[in-house]
Amino acid sequence: MGQAKNRGSREQRIQAAQERKAALRPTALACNDCGAAITDFDELDTRGLRGMEAAYAGICPGCGAVTHALKGDPEVVAAFAEFLEQEHGELNMGAQSKDGQRVA
Ligand SMILES: [Zn+2]
Repeated sequence: MGQAKNRGSREQRIQAAQERKAALRPTALACNDCGAAITDFDELDTRGLRGMEAAYAGICPGCGAVTHALKGDPEVVAAFAEFLEQEHGELNMGAQSKDGQRVA
């Protein structure tokens, strides 16, 4: 009985975590080069990155630039951006709203 109960609450926790993730996901990424909306993008694995809420990457259909979107504590985001720069070269970091509009 106790085991079934534990399994139920674990599933509920996983579901709640997935719902939180889904709520964070923007509808589009704003291209850091040309500002076009990138609607086809992947979520990056940020498990184990404390303070990182979510990270996404997509390729702009307009200009082909790779754009990353990072959400989390500013210090962690800055450290993760530095890591990405080492992996991919210089990044154009920008800010965007949840619906893929660039913000200054
Ligand atoms: Zn672009």
